Amino acid sequence: MDAILVLNAGSSSIKFAIFDQRADDDNPGGGNGERLRGQIDGIGDEPHFKARTPDGEVVADESVALQEATSGNPHERALAVLLGFIERFDPSLSVAAVGHRVVHGGPDYAEPTRLDDQTLAALDRFVPLAPLHQPHNLAGVRAAMRAFAGALQVACFDTAFHRRQPWVADTFALPRHFYDEGVRRYGFHGLSYDYISRYLQKAHPDLAQGRVVVAHLGNGASLCAIQDGRAMGSTMGFTAVDGMPMGTRTGQLDPGVILYLLAEKGLGHAEIETLIYKESGLLGLSGISGDWRRLEESGPGHAADAMAYFTHRALREIGGLAATMGGIDALVFTAGIGENAAGLRRDIAQGLGWLGVAIDPARNDAKAEIISTDASAVTVLVIPTDEEAVIAHHTRSLMT
Ligand code: ADP
Repeated sequence: MDAILVLNAGSSSIKFAIFDQRADDDNPGGGNGERLRGQIDGIGDEPHFKARTPDGEVVADESVALQEATSGNPHERALAVLLGFIERFDPSLSVAAVGHRVVHGGPDYAEPTRLDDQTLAALDRFVPLAPLHQPHNLAGVRAAMRAFAGALQVACFDTAFHRRQPWVADTFALPRHFYDEGVRRYGFHGLSYDYISRYLQKAHPDLAQGRVVVAHLGNGASLCAIQDGRAMGSTMGFTAVDGMPMGTRTGQLDPGVILYLLAEKGLGHAEIETLIYKESGLLGLSGISGDWRRLEESGPGHAADAMAYFTHRALREIGGLAATMGGIDALVFTAGIGENAAGLRRDIAQGLGWLGVAIDPARNDAKAEIISTDASAVTVLVIPTDEEAVIAHHTRSLMT
């Protein structure tokens, strides 16, 4: 079977999924052909390999010794382990294409793109724009080009979905030449928004034509306004630190604070980067954890303060994005927190009562797909995101 391998390479983990190339996911009844998904995490520390089939059967859950595999860098060795597993799992499987998640496509890459040495060199230029993700994504691409030398390699960008957003949502109020140089509001989580947008088109075509705010609330968190399938604005900006507070990232921060830290506190670039990316957000506010579930378990005090700030910012951002579209027809919750934290959905819905939002507590607790009441002016949905499926879709479409 010709297969599509989807790779999402981070600093210490590689998430993967395998799809049948022949699946027909353009057809609502066609299915996406998923065969397997999993991850190798703890790369560089204690590597662990886990994989499961679409019906939830765990087919691998084991420590792996990467140094015993083939030579090369840690990502290459991890891919060699993956390749070995795929061959054992289904000897008839042949990887015909590899679809990669690449966080940054800069101003020009607005579509999934076939990767070659020249494109890869162009993508290297965006490393300073996403220093925590891009180098690992590209290391994964290079490793896959060597491990699957005959396969088509495709990059799918987290920024691409936002490239059609209006100029006012794409720019900062800096002198114009900065925009031309690429200092723009790129927006991220675009593969997730792409997936949700396609899902709405298939399952709720009336809503897909309307004004939608999607709340991608996970460890990284952002919101995106989408009107008739077109991105209209996002809370994330030049980098993935703007907008919503996150597990450990600040979200929106007055640039004056950075100036103060530089001038008065004598902090340098590296210290400020660590502060705003790794020590702030829910972790910084609570002093306990950046993990929503742990904060829920912690009860009142600083954990509750951190959750209250997150809720407050979500309300501000949803209200702001709705205002730019002249209203809102649907609100979608997705990602780890959005899909699971019923209490947060309840609080946000309550805060949006003035927009005519009303959710049904039983539907909300049951995580139904539509959690709003039948009378609600805005349809509120919970849709599990699937970035791997959308990467497989795009890779498949470049294979024909
Ligand atoms: P990432 O951005 O790393 O992909 P996820 O989308 O997996 O993150 O989201 C991780 C977040 O989701 C964590 O804050 C976690 O606590 C939260 N989360 C996961 N499951 C639940 C749950 N059942 N209830 C509340 N929060 C949850």
